Order: sequence, then C-alpha cells, then structure tokens
Amino acid sequence: MSILSGILTIIAGIILSGFLFITLSFFISSLWERERRAAIFAFSQCLISACVLSFFYYLLSSGFFKELLGIFILAVFIIAILIGILLISIKTSKNQKALLGTKGYISGSVERFDERDHVFARNRALRPGSKQYKQYYEEHPERELIDKKRREMGGPIGPPGKIDSPNEHPNIAATMSSLAVPLIFSHPDIFNPKQHPIFGGKKVKLTPEEATERVKGFTKHLGASLVGVTEIDPNWIYSHRGEIFRENWEDWGKEIKLAHRYAVVFAVEMAFKMVASAPHTPTVIESMRNYAKGAFIAIQLAAYITNMGYPSTAHHLRHYDVMLVPLAIDAGLGELGRMGYLITKEFGPRVRLGAVTTTLPLIPDKPVDIGVEDFCKICKKCAVCCPSKSIPSEEQKEVVNGTLRWKLNAETCFDYWGKIGTDCNICMNVCPWSHPRTFPHKIIMGLVTRNSHARHLFSFLDDLFYGKKPKAKLPPRWASFNSNNPKQP
Ligand code: SF4
Ligand code: SF4
Repeated sequence: MSILSGILTIIAGIILSGFLFITLSFFISSLWERERRAAIFAFSQCLISACVLSFFYYLLSSGFFKELLGIFILAVFIIAILIGILLISIKTSKNQKALLGTKGYISGSVERFDERDHVFARNRALRPGSKQYKQYYEEHPERELIDKKRREMGGPIGPPGKIDSPNEHPNIAATMSSLAVPLIFSHPDIFNPKQHPIFGGKKVKLTPEEATERVKGFTKHLGASLVGVTEIDPNWIYSHRGEIFRENWEDWGKEIKLAHRYAVVFAVEMAFKMVASAPHTPTVIESMRNYAKGAFIAIQLAAYITNMGYPSTAHHLRHYDVMLVPLAIDAGLGELGRMGYLITKEFGPRVRLGAVTTTLPLIPDKPVDIGVEDFCKICKKCAVCCPSKSIPSEEQKEVVNGTLRWKLNAETCFDYWGKIGTDCNICMNVCPWSHPRTFPHKIIMGLVTRNSHARHLFSFLDDLFYGKKPKAKLPPRWASFNSNNPKQP
C-alpha cells in the first residue's frame, strides 16, 4: 500500500508542478507579447496552480495520502488528468483532402486566372483614357462604374497612412523605402536572369536530391523562414499579364507562358510586434519590408540556379507569373485559411511569400494536414473582426472557379485598404495561429495540429484569453504613429 501511495504521490506531484510551470511560462509569454488580458488570466491560473500545489504538499506532510481515501483521490485525479491529456493529444483522423494539396480543393473545371481582373491590376495599373482602359472596360462594363467610384474616392490606395494622420509621415516614409526594392527588381533582366559569362554556358550535373538540398539550403541562407518545392500545376499560372509597373504597356494582356516544371516556394516571417499594431501604419511597414526581403531572396535564388545552367524566374511583389498561395500549399508550407491566406504551422498567416520557378529537376515536397480547415470551421475570428466584412463566416465553403473554399471578397477588402491607407492586416493579427511561437504557444500549436478536441478547446481559450475582438497594440517606439501620445494605439 505504501509503495502504491508513494508512486501515486510522485506522479501527482509531477503533474501539479507541470501545471505550475506551464501557467508560469504562459504568464511570462503574455507579458512579453504585451497581452494584458492574457497575462491577468495566466497569472490567476498560476496562483491557483501554486495554491493547489501547496495544499498537495500540506496533505502529503500530514500523511493523508497514506490513507485509503487519500490514495483513492490521488488515483482518480491522475486518471482524470491522463484521460484529459490523451483526449487533446492523440492524433485524430487525417484530412485526406488537405494531403492532396490544391487538388483536394478542386471540384470542377478551373480556368487560369487573368491577372488583368485582379482588383489591384484594374485600379492601380489602368489609366483612364488609355487604350488598355478602354479595351478592358469594353469587355467588362459591369466593373467600370465600381472602379470609377473608387478612383473618385481618392485612388486605389487612398491617402497613404490616413488612419494615423497627421502623424503618418515617418512610417509611410519607411513603407515607401521598402516598396522601392521590388520595383528595382522588376526588370526582366533581373527576374529572368541570364547565366554569368564566366560559366561559359555550362550546366552543373546534380541529382535531384543534391539539387534540392543545395537550393533549399541557399534559400534559407538568404533569409527565408520556410521553403518547399512543388511541381507546378498549370492551373496556378496566370493566363494574361495585367500588372504594369515600368510603363511596359506592350506586355499588358499578353498570354503568360511558363516553361518551368518546378517551383521553389518560400515564406518570410513577419515580426509579431509590428503586425500586432494592425491596421495602423507599422503593419504596412512590416508587409513592405518582407515583400522587399522576398524580392531580394527570389532574385538571388533565380540567379543562383540560372548560373548552375538551369533557366529560372523570380516571382515577387513586382513580377508574378504564378499564384503563390496555391503553389505554397502544394509545396507543403501550410494550408489555406478562411481568410484566404496561407496558414503555416510555424507562423500561422504571419508570413509573406516568394518563389522561383525553374527547369532544374528537384524533389517535390508533400502537402500537409495541420488541421487548419477544421480549426477555421470552429474559429471564425477573422470574419468577426474584419471591418469590411470581406471574410465569410459560414461554416460551408463555396465553389469559386472550380475550387471549393471560403471566398475572401477582395473588392471590399481593397476598398477598406483605400479608406485607411494601409494594408489593414487585422485578420492576420487576430488569427490564433499568428501568436509568436513562445514555449506555451509551441505546445498549443503542436496539439492543435494533431487533435480535433484541442482545436475546439484552444479556439475557445483564445477568445477567453485574448478577447473575441483583440485590439491593436503599440508598436516599438521608433514606429510610433501618435507623437502626441505614444502610449495610445
Ligand atoms: S485585410 Fe482587413 S479588410 Fe481585408 S480581409 Fe483582412 S481584416 Fe478584412
Ligand atoms: S482567424 Fe480563425 S477562422 Fe480565420 S483564418 Fe485564422 S484560424 Fe481560420
């Protein structure tokens, strides 16, 4: 009896100490994240855990656990906790569709997307009075009035940083400085590099395994946070050019042809402390910094592979032949979320993407099932918080161009960007997958990616700890947007 009592006491002691450790680490994490509400909850939990642990030691010292009732209570407590841990940690059924990548979303015939139809291309590139403007709206008269109204309201991006006016100037200065970088790399000689003459047209002989290791290694070395490889599904190649940045109007409406078989897709992590200020100007600084970083990585990677003798193209903010989110899903970087962004296991949607397409034979990665679809059915936080109601809140998805998914209304989202003068990012900020991966969040995401009960539990706890509608937080002081009162977001 005393041996049993001893064993049960040790196990219960380990469990209670573990609780105290986890709640304490959550409290520290919440302070670091500057999440006051979460810190208060975590501190309360910490106090409760400490009290329970103290009471446990009091009972232990009084000899209570040597009595039959004490042993019974210990056994029941341990069994209940073990069942609870099992319930939220064993791997529940796989989402077979997610494991097929974008093929799992297809439920009809897909037409390649025409870049000219993109809300950005229509409103940013087309100029009233131009030949292309006339041609486009003759073919799409239903869009002319909507786009005309937008222009009358102040243009496609509105006054930059309007939400933080009159203190927006420094942050918009930072935003524009990063935005200039992808534009510098928007010339075909740069995004479609030629092999350097010192290589004399030679091709390096590499097995696909060696090539994949080198290419992925270099991508990470250049600063990518995540990298994957996929064979390109032609559905995700734009059909016609619509975005014009260098007065290259001869390219507008040209069919996009891509002879590459493989895509190296990468993600760069956006800083949590900048995104947390969404929709204020620090968040657009962060978006542009990462678009610049993505362009910087993509052009060097394309040049690297081309110099090894295999034609490659860099795809970044100022030149896309391919749609990056579907390619990233096929390359195993994550799943598609309700908000229409890629959700990664490591950083949630808090990333920007870039890619290089190439003829170099590579080993493709497999798509992943990390439980995003299941979590998004329960969560809906982005839909609740979206100020323009652009994210659907229905449980069921809809068929959009032959693919079954939640459809973001890019038109109303874009109008909200125009109204506030930033790229908003509220949905990215509030998403429970966006929390920085401190120790407790790593544990939570580890459970969420494998177990459906954990998804229910942590979606509920996210609302409890962070609120159903989390507020914008202060950015680092250097990116303050309220010079009169830098303590107010
Ligand atoms: S960026 Fe803002 S407006 Fe657009 S979908 Fe997200 S929350 Fe809504
Ligand atoms: S906020 Fe919730 S519903 Fe929206 S993408 Fe993130 S997990 Fe999915």
